[in-house]
Amino acid sequence: MFNKRIKIKELLTADKVNFDATVMGWVRTFRNNQFIALNDGSTNNNLQIVTGLGVFDEKILKRLTTGACIKVTGEIIASLGKGQKVELKAATIEILGDSDAEKFPLQPKKHSLEFLREIAHLRFRTNTFSAIFRVRHSLAFAVHKFFNDKGFVYLHTPIITASDAEGAGEMFRVTTLPLDGSALKNEDGSINYKDDFFGRSTNLTVSGQLEGELAAMAFSDIYTFGPTFRAENSNTTRHLAEFWMIEPEVAFNDLEDNMNLAEEFIRYIIKYAMEQNKEDLEFLAQRLTEEENQKPLVERSEMSLLDKLNFVVNNDFERLTYTEAIEILRESNHNKKKKFNYLIDGWGVDLQSEHERYLVEKHFKKPVILTNYPKDIKSFYMRLNDDGKTVAAMDILAPGIGEIVGGSQREERLDKLTQRMSEMHIPEEELNWYLDTRRFGACPHAGFGLGFERLVQFVTGMGNIRDVIPFPRYPKSAEF
Ligand code: ATP
Ligand code: MN
Repeated sequence: MFNKRIKIKELLTADKVNFDATVMGWVRTFRNNQFIALNDGSTNNNLQIVTGLGVFDEKILKRLTTGACIKVTGEIIASLGKGQKVELKAATIEILGDSDAEKFPLQPKKHSLEFLREIAHLRFRTNTFSAIFRVRHSLAFAVHKFFNDKGFVYLHTPIITASDAEGAGEMFRVTTLPLDGSALKNEDGSINYKDDFFGRSTNLTVSGQLEGELAAMAFSDIYTFGPTFRAENSNTTRHLAEFWMIEPEVAFNDLEDNMNLAEEFIRYIIKYAMEQNKEDLEFLAQRLTEEENQKPLVERSEMSLLDKLNFVVNNDFERLTYTEAIEILRESNHNKKKKFNYLIDGWGVDLQSEHERYLVEKHFKKPVILTNYPKDIKSFYMRLNDDGKTVAAMDILAPGIGEIVGGSQREERLDKLTQRMSEMHIPEEELNWYLDTRRFGACPHAGFGLGFERLVQFVTGMGNIRDVIPFPRYPKSAEF
């Protein structure tokens, strides 16, 4: 069999030597015409392969260039050199794929993250990105494990939707109509969708929540984990046009249950990655420390990446109401000295990311859950509190990232819900299917949306969200 290989991670962690093995992977470096550093993506640690002087044909050795793909058989022996416990003494070397050293863009040296973003198709082969995407994998796996262990049903909500009522963000249109102006028009000049693929106007989903609520009214506990799309022109380090969202929706949960679930969930998946990806996270922590050391002292973070993750796993998040947060912000020296771009002088305004960061990074120095926001700055489906002014919403804010979770207890009372909809000019006909859940066996329920990439950013310490998704989509960029 061709593929009777052993993964490098397994070889490096085995405690036996003197056995034959086949390995395959990509050459990171070949030095002194003798030592190959081979990587197969199972770990950032390379396997040292010793070719032995005079054993192999010059022609083969010349093709052992950075980036080349090879198959090697030989004996695993205890290594005499420093830096590794075992090495492979090569008996046969087969070149599976050559790599022209002159043209291969990844040289064995440090490349900037910006440069690597331009060659995202090759960046998996760097230590930084292989660590990031192995951690991303573990986090994704832990998401499923967490909910599966709790008996949640994984619900696949549609990617193409006809509802644009949720208002979570600008939507991408989905259409098969011609773009040359020949599409059928109504009398008022607007597009007539009669001939469009679905016979109506459709978009890429911004959230699976509304559909998730329908299923929660049958299974009690569901979650979604899928791609969502926002056509917002946000050129920030925290926004993507295509990102993955996790949205649990739970019948019989109120706002407090919802917060407890979110906290438990975040702690669980971070802890899982810390156990499964110890080496990768140590590598990323080291990378971040080096990056931080380039900054002026005052801007450096007080905690290392691993300290920060441990802190989150072991400490409760700070919970306070929007009203309390406004009070803290208004009374802060930052506000009095006019250091905010948007000064806080009254109740009711939406918090900007500078305010969120102040609360999390300066005031509390830990993740914060803000609750009970003014109804006018939140969505129609959030449950109206008894004060008539606020809704049972909760946002979780994380250090360095800002908002990582947005959630709420949902409005289960039909009359209150339809009243909010009419105040917000959302036509009932469009959401009749949604309103049915309130007509037939409604119950208190709650849920939240967690942006997966923001979580990956938090765990890997990466500053830019474009570096934690394999092929980022953002304004003016949809390469690969
Ligand atoms: P923000 O204010 O940061 O734009 P939002 O209020 O628009 O967030 P929600 O609509 O509540 O966010 O979405 C739920 C979660 O999805 C957010 O808490 C965040 O983690 C994530 N999220 C939202 N928009 C984006 C985006 N453009 N790219 C990546 N993640 C996002
Ligand atoms: Mn947004």
